[in-house]
Amino acid sequence: MKCDDIKNELYFYIRNEIDLTTKKEIENHIEKCSECRKLLNEFSKTLNIIDKSIIEMPSKNWNYFAEKTVAGIHHRKIFGFLKPAIVFAVSLLVFTISYKYYKYRSVQQTTSLTETEELVSYLSDFDIPELSQ
Ligand SMILES: [Zn+2]
Repeated sequence: MKCDDIKNELYFYIRNEIDLTTKKEIENHIEKCSECRKLLNEFSKTLNIIDKSIIEMPSKNWNYFAEKTVAGIHHRKIFGFLKPAIVFAVSLLVFTISYKYYKYRSVQQTTSLTETEELVSYLSDFDIPELSQ
C-alpha cells in the first residue's frame, strides 16, 4: 500500500469499518511510515472532537439553516474585506468635507475683506474725516 492509499483508508480504519487484511496492511505501513502515523494521530484527534461535540442538525429546516450559515460566512468575508476600505473612505470623506469647509470659509473671508476695502476706498472719495483716522 502507498501513502495515498493509506490516506484514503484512514477514516475507515479509525472507525473500524474495514476488513482485517486491509487493517493489517495499514498497521504495517504506519509502523514504518512516520508521515502516515502523524496523519493517523491528527485524523483520530479530529474525529474524536467531532464525536464529542455531537451537533444536533435541524432536520426540518436543514436547507434554510445551511443557507443562513453559508450566507453568514460569506457576509463576514465580504465585510471583513470591506471594513478597512469603509474606514478609509469615511476618513477621506471627513477630510474632504473639512478641507472644503476650510477653503469655503477662507474664500468668504477674502471676499468680505475685498468688499470692505472696496467700500473704504469708495467712501474715501467722499473725504469723510472719520475714515482717515
Ligand atoms: Zn505512508
